[in-house]
Amino acid sequence: MESFYTIQGEGLYQGRAAYFIRLGGCDVGCSWCDVKDSWDAGAHPKFSVEEIVHKALEEVAGNTKNIIAVITGGEPLMYNLDELTDVLHKAGFQTNIETSGAYALSGNIDWICLSPKKFKEPLPEVIAKANELKIIVYNKSDFDWAEKYAAQTSPGCKLYLQPEWSKEKQMLPLMIDYIKQHPQWELSVQIHKYINVP
Ligand code: SF4
Repeated sequence: MESFYTIQGEGLYQGRAAYFIRLGGCDVGCSWCDVKDSWDAGAHPKFSVEEIVHKALEEVAGNTKNIIAVITGGEPLMYNLDELTDVLHKAGFQTNIETSGAYALSGNIDWICLSPKKFKEPLPEVIAKANELKIIVYNKSDFDWAEKYAAQTSPGCKLYLQPEWSKEKQMLPLMIDYIKQHPQWELSVQIHKYINVP
């Protein structure tokens, strides 16, 4: 759908230089999705893996050191990511993915950020391999829902609560209290929206 060089705004890699590759196509159907344009894969042009990575290298001026490539969507695991992750690695990028976990894992991925959605549950294999669990908090019941998935993650998985953007003012005070009482969780806010970068 699009690709661009920016700053990662969320989760463990918040604040890091990141090249985003957004793949078109998603059938998860979140009501609050902020990239609904991504849902219809057919509405976007097709690029080869080589074209995608060539553009990435151009935009980072050939210097991939310390730059993460973030494969996102849409739901990127609707596609087999073997070739894309291999070519990104050969170019020197670290490969991160942001997924709902609703489809089987593929590719050689260095960091899996799992953001499960109620509308289509994540697969157990993705939960077990997640490096980071990012729960979007839309209402109070989401804390229990977050714990249900945290209990299924592997040891060492980072746990983040992130307010849904339109509910941030309302949910943030509750989230701060919750994290103080359950300090295994950390707060993630979408800093890219505060600093006005994509
Ligand atoms: Fe939107 Fe992501 Fe939900 Fe798909 S999984 S509908 S892209 S928020």
